[in-house]
Amino acid sequence: MAHPEPTDSRADSPISSASLPAATWDVVLVGAGPAGSTTALHLARAGHRVLLLDRKSFPREKVCGDGLIHDAIECARRAGLYDELKAAAHPLDGLRVYAPNGLCVDFSGDFWTLERLRLDHLLLRGAITAGASFFPGEVTGVSQGDAGVQVTLKGMTAPVKARSALLATGADLSLLRRMGFTAPSSPSAVAMRCYVQSEIEIRRLVVCFDGSCLPGYAWIFPLGQGRYNVGCGLFGLAPGDGAPSLQALFNSFLEGFPLARELMAKGERLSPLKGSPLRCGLEGVPGRCRPAARILAAGEAIGTTFPFTGEGIGKAMESGELAAGLLDEALRTDRWDGLSDYPGLLERELRLKYLGYQKAERWLSRPWVANLVARRAIRSPFLRAALEGILNETADPRRVFSPATILLSFLR
Ligand SMILES: Cc1cc2nc3c(=O)[nH]c(=O)nc-3n(C[C@H](O)[C@H](O)[C@H](O)COP(=O)(O)OP(=O)(O)OC[C@H]3O[C@@H](n4cnc5c(N)ncnc54)[C@H](O)[C@@H]3O)c2cc1C
Repeated sequence: MAHPEPTDSRADSPISSASLPAATWDVVLVGAGPAGSTTALHLARAGHRVLLLDRKSFPREKVCGDGLIHDAIECARRAGLYDELKAAAHPLDGLRVYAPNGLCVDFSGDFWTLERLRLDHLLLRGAITAGASFFPGEVTGVSQGDAGVQVTLKGMTAPVKARSALLATGADLSLLRRMGFTAPSSPSAVAMRCYVQSEIEIRRLVVCFDGSCLPGYAWIFPLGQGRYNVGCGLFGLAPGDGAPSLQALFNSFLEGFPLARELMAKGERLSPLKGSPLRCGLEGVPGRCRPAARILAAGEAIGTTFPFTGEGIGKAMESGELAAGLLDEALRTDRWDGLSDYPGLLERELRLKYLGYQKAERWLSRPWVANLVARRAIRSPFLRAALEGILNETADPRRVFSPATILLSFLR
């Protein structure tokens, strides 16, 4: 069957609702965030008929810190979008982390920022340019059908037919619940952010564990041209579970943390504070996939966001790459049993990377430990390099957060 014409692929124009061709698709992807668009790009590039659906028209806003770390940048490179994203992004000099006692430690590495409004649009454009089709519409169900699966869209009577499907609906699990998947009602974390314009110049990502928002942290992420993404997140404790209100934590950060005070004294808020849940630590693997029914899930829908820091763009993209690899094989050979390897593949390829962040969450949520690690990291190039190794994924996280590493930091 001939491929349907890709929808508009110009770089900056809004992506419009094309009329949905009546075809049997190889894959339908639900959700055009980083997970869905990355999967779509790789599958379309492999020659498959790919339909990407999202309930929002693009460009669309996504509440996020807009920070890109090493894993996301490498995914962009593998997708062939590195140069385009780099040209749009704001490169930073590094990461500065403030401990509860006010000590700060600088880390070097790959750090960019790019507003999600633009990032997700560029990723979707990349998928469309690779040959995927995009249609804005809210999916209300995905089930087994004649061709493999059928996807129902709000307001459309005939279901969309496909040989397989991937759910990449992010932290909002309402579609998955409607499909009968069990999912916890409370998320792993909640976070809020707003945009600020200020005269002061900050050239690093700033992360602050100053105590005003423990067991979480606050951030100031420069976006370039005096714009900042400022926010805070509460990890491991959802508001309502006896936790303080996130808005109160945010206000106390703005009033209590000197750099934030200065930022606001010489600036103004450009947007209201908006919040969103996070789903972390691979919490949804394997319960949110139905390989036997040719339905996989990727990204925050299966909890790919890192615990403790809430960085999730890169791992959402990586899970999409892994799903794309298995779907490609199944579509080419028409043998579907390989999809059942997906949960195991996620565990093998990604689990270790979460361990460092889970350990960091346990260690650094105790202020005295956070202060000790900061003190040692300032004095010890060995410890600083080990912590940088977690961020750029060259170090084994089990070794870094260990008493042995802290002891060695007194020698090296
Ligand atoms: C405040 C905050 C700050 C953060 N900061 C960072 C950061 O600085 N760096 C970082 O790497 N990560 C950050 N994250 C995490 C990051 O936002 C997520 O990990 C990432 O967006 C996950 O990508 P995804 O593709 O899985 O889901 P999303 O990006 O959430 O995309 C899901 C898509 O699915 C669509 N959808 C949902 N349901 C349906 C449906 N029924 N039908 C059709 N479409 C549907 C949605 O419209 C959406 O476009 C932050 C999160 C929060 C809340």
